[in-house]
This record gives sequence, structure tokens and C-alpha cells, in this order.
Amino acid sequence: MRAAVLHEIGQEKLEVLDDVEAVGFGPGKVRLRIRATGLCHSDVSAMSGVLPQPAPFIPGHEGAGEVVDIGDGVTGLSAGDRVLVCWLPACGACPSCKRGQTQLCLAGFMNAGTPNFKRPGGDVFGFAGTGTFTEEVVVGAGCAVPIPDDVPFEIAALIGCGVTTGLGAAINTAKVEPGSSVAVIGCGGVGISTIQGARVQGAAQIIAVDPVASRREAALRFGATEAVAPDGLADAKQRVTGGEGFDYVFEVVGKSATARTAYENTRRGGTLCVVGAGAMDDNFQVNMFELFFDEKRILPSMYGGGDVLRSYERAIALWRAGRIDLESMITHRVRLDGVNDALDQMRTGESLRTCIEL
Ligand SMILES: [Zn+2]
Ligand SMILES: [Zn+2]
Repeated sequence: MRAAVLHEIGQEKLEVLDDVEAVGFGPGKVRLRIRATGLCHSDVSAMSGVLPQPAPFIPGHEGAGEVVDIGDGVTGLSAGDRVLVCWLPACGACPSCKRGQTQLCLAGFMNAGTPNFKRPGGDVFGFAGTGTFTEEVVVGAGCAVPIPDDVPFEIAALIGCGVTTGLGAAINTAKVEPGSSVAVIGCGGVGISTIQGARVQGAAQIIAVDPVASRREAALRFGATEAVAPDGLADAKQRVTGGEGFDYVFEVVGKSATARTAYENTRRGGTLCVVGAGAMDDNFQVNMFELFFDEKRILPSMYGGGDVLRSYERAIALWRAGRIDLESMITHRVRLDGVNDALDQMRTGESLRTCIEL
């Protein structure tokens, strides 16, 4: 079958091959036919080595498709079911799951070090234990979450990562209060979802911050009340908050420099919510005096910071009610052969979300 493979970490281009096989099918597993997959910034970060990932690997973790076959012992799923791919399935039994923090369950990650594809040349890993830039993938049954019939595959795919991450940061983690002031630094697909989450929560001012003009324009369409380039943030802070700082600042880039900017633009007693996925050697610094004296809350948000299945259901409900716009987030569509063009657009920041149709 066809799949897009990265041969070595650090390479910029994927090779679309037709000699790939999905392996590992058996008890507790399901075989999926992928129909649509989003290109998430984490895929690019795994390719460049910012996020840890063994190679060769097939990127993609934001996908949706149909169940082709179910292994022994799998309940609640059958062939033909429409599902989205959850890259962080909850086991339901570990301490994190029992506390209701299923986004912190690591049971599914145990599989991430096991290759789930192979080629004549050897084993191939799937990103984050999934790998959706492919026609078929075998995953644990918990990674296949049924979706209602009215949710198109391309919308379900976005809910599988970026939308859930951004909405959840605003709703679950920061719990943005009505009437508050918000700044969102980084306005790709996750940042746009954060803006939509802040709007759903009733924020009075939402300032979008991004160096790319097309993303600033997009942010205004999705609910930002103002959009500025990074060098305009200080002025916006002065005008909107009287210089005090924002009630909430979301860092949706994944770099210590932008996290520090976010911290400095958060008001005393306000909330810095860190959503971006960064590198292990990029350290964020706060001095002990400001940490204590300014009482800013630093809240990281992983995959929406709440029960993952509940977050999916909420995203679908908000989308169905017209409270969030997911269709317009797809600014670019390609077939698998166009995946390298899509990666280039992601790197320049021109696209919010590319949908790869398979
Ligand atoms: Zn668990
Ligand atoms: Zn993602």
C-alpha cells in the first residue's frame, strides 16, 4: 500500500512509496483505512528532531477513516465503522485515568516504540504510535473512536489533534472567564482553535499574535478581536489592558522565547497557558522573585488538558451548533503525492490546516 515515509530524522522531504505494509494486527487491535488526515505542526517537529521519534517513520497522527477489520477481544467496534484516530488512547485503569486525566495516560505510548509498518528494506515506525500518512494502519482498539455519521472524515481528523488541543487549552486548562482579555501567540491550526475556544468561553478581547499576515487575517475571521505582528504586542497590551497585561496568554509555538514573551504579557495573577510542543533542550526560565511576587499561574496544556473522549464530543457538539467553524480551518487540500508541498506551506506558515485525502 501507499504511504509517505521519512527515512532519517532531519530530512525535509517525505518519500511516497507503494511497498509499505501495516503490521501488528491481532488481539485488541484494529485495522483502519485512512480517508483523511491533517498535517499538524508536531509532524514537522518530529521530522526535524524537535520531538523525539525513531526513524524511519510515517508521520501523521490527526486522521480519520473506516474500520477494516477487528482483532479478537475488541468490543464496541465493527468493520465499516467510521472513526477518528486518537493518538493518546486512555487505558482506563492507570492512576491518571482513574483521576479523569486521560490526557496524561501513557499506556498507549508503550506501543510508540514498536514499528507498526514494514517495507522490504525493514521496519518502519508510525509517529506517536499511529502514522496516518498512509492508506492503512493497525492501532490499538482504543485509538479508534467512533464518530457520528454527520461528521465528515476531514472534520473528524482535525478533532483528532489540533482542534481538541486548542479548544481544550481555553476551556479545560485555562478556563477562560467571560469578559476577560486574552492573547494567543501563534495562530496556526491549534492557535486558531484556541481563539475559537476563548470566544466560546466569552472572552471580551482576543488578541491574535503571529508574524504571518495571512494567519493574522484568518485569526480575525475565527473570532480574534484584533491581530498584531509580534512587534505590535506591547502596544496592544498597553491599549487593551492599560499596560497591566492580559488575563490569559496562550503560547502556541513551543519555544522558550515565546513562552517568556507570553509570561511577560500576562497580568499579575493572570494565567500563562503553554500549548506549544517544544524541545527537551529548550529551557524556560522564570526567576524566583517574579514567580512568587507576580503570582502568575503557569498552566501547561497537553492534548486539551482534559478527558480526551469528552473533549471530542464537545468539539463535535460545538461544531454542529455552529459555535465553532472547522470547515474554514482547512485552507489547503492535497492527495498523498502532494504531501511535500503541504509540508512547505506548513513551514512558511501559509496554511492553517492541510487536509490530505486518501
Ligand atoms: Zn490510563
Ligand atoms: Zn498534533
